[in-house]
Amino acid sequence: MRAWPDLYIPQLHSRFQVPQLALFNTSAQTIETLPKKSHYRMYVCGITPYDATHLGHAATYLTFDLINRFLRAMGAKVDFVQNITDIDDPLLERAQRDGVDWKVLAQSQVDLFIGDMTDLHIIPPQNYIGVVEAMPLVIDAVQKLRDAGTTYEVGSDIYYRVHSDSEFGERSHYSQEKMLEIFAERGGDPKKPGKEDPLDALVWLSQREGEPGWPSPFGAGRPGWHIECCAIALHYLRPDASDDYAIDIQGGGSDLIFPHHEMSAAQSRSIKGQKFARSYVHSGMIGLDGEKMSKSLGNLVFVSKLISSGVNPAAIRWALMGHPYAADLMWTDSLLAQSTIDIDRLQLNLARMEVAPTDEVIAEIIAALSQNLDTPRALDAIKRWMQSTEAGATGGVAGELSRALDTLLGIAL
Ligand code: ZN
Repeated sequence: MRAWPDLYIPQLHSRFQVPQLALFNTSAQTIETLPKKSHYRMYVCGITPYDATHLGHAATYLTFDLINRFLRAMGAKVDFVQNITDIDDPLLERAQRDGVDWKVLAQSQVDLFIGDMTDLHIIPPQNYIGVVEAMPLVIDAVQKLRDAGTTYEVGSDIYYRVHSDSEFGERSHYSQEKMLEIFAERGGDPKKPGKEDPLDALVWLSQREGEPGWPSPFGAGRPGWHIECCAIALHYLRPDASDDYAIDIQGGGSDLIFPHHEMSAAQSRSIKGQKFARSYVHSGMIGLDGEKMSKSLGNLVFVSKLISSGVNPAAIRWALMGHPYAADLMWTDSLLAQSTIDIDRLQLNLARMEVAPTDEVIAEIIAALSQNLDTPRALDAIKRWMQSTEAGATGGVAGELSRALDTLLGIAL
C-alpha cells in the first residue's frame, strides 16, 4: 500500500555530537543502549482500519517517529516497516454493523490515517503493507510453522503451540494468570475446546460462511493477527542472518506487549531460529478526563477532528511530548490549550532577530532524547531558551534551532 509522502529532514550541523540511543526494552525490563550500527531495522504495528486515528495512535506513532529521527540524526539508516491489519474480526464486525463493504470501510480509514500521519509530520515507513496484499507471505509463514511441527488443527483452524518457543513469555514478563486474563480481552480464545494449551495462538482461521477467505495449501481462510506481523517484518526488513536478532526494534502501544508481540516473536523464532527483536519498545495509553480512552466508552479524541477544528498539529505533538512516552497520559482540553500557547510562543521567539544562545539548547535536546526519549526534559530546555530570549539574551541562531526542532522533534513551524 502507498504510504504518506516522504518528508524532508534537515541535517544537524556536524559540531553536534549525537550519542547512542538508550531505550527501555520491555523484554530486558531495563533501559539499554542500542549497539552502534550503521543500519537499524524497525517494525511498528499498524492500525486495524475500522475507526479513525485517535490520540492513542498519535502517541504511538509519534514515539517511533522520534526514535526514527534520532537514529537518522546519529547518521544511521533506518528501515522502517508498518503493517495494516486490513482483515480481522473487528473490521468485519464494524462493516456488518454499519452495512458497508469491509474493503470500502478499510480503505476509507486508511485514507484518514494517512492524512493524520501527514499532518502530524510523521516520517513514513519505507514499506507500508496491508495484510491482504501480503497474503502469499503470510500463507508461506503459516506453512513454515506447520513444516516445523509447531502447529495443530482444531477442526479446520490451525493453532500455533506457544511453547514450541522455549523463550515464550520472556518478552512480556506476565504471570500465567495475567496472560490468560488479557489474552481473552485482546482477541484470544483461551476457552476454545480442542486447544492443547489455552494460550496457543490462531494462525489460520478457515473460511466461515459469509466471510472472506483466501486459498491456501491448508484450505481457504484468513490469517490470525500475530503471524501477519511476523511474516511482514521478516520479509520486508530482510534480517541479517549473522546478527543475533532478526530486527532491532519492535514497537507499538503497551496493549500489544501481550499477546501480540510475544506471539509474533515466538512465531518468528520458530520460523527463523533467530531471536526476533533486540528491543521491544512500548508507548503508554492515552486516557481522557480521568477515563480510559476506548472505542467501547465512545470517548475517543480523533486527530482529524482536532486538526479540522483548527488545532495546530505541532501543538498535538508538543502536548504528547510533554509527558514520558512510556507512561499513560490523561488528555484534557487544558493540556491542548497550554501546548497551543507554547507553540505560538515558540513560533514568535524563533521569528525574532536576536535570540538567546542556541547551541546549548540543541545539545540539551539531543542529550535528553538519547536517554530513553526524555521529551519532557527537552521541552523544558526549549522553554528556558524562550524565557532567556524574551529576557533579551542574544548570541543564538534561530534558524539553526528551528531546523534542529524539525530534525529531532518533528516540530516544523
Ligand atoms: Zn503487529
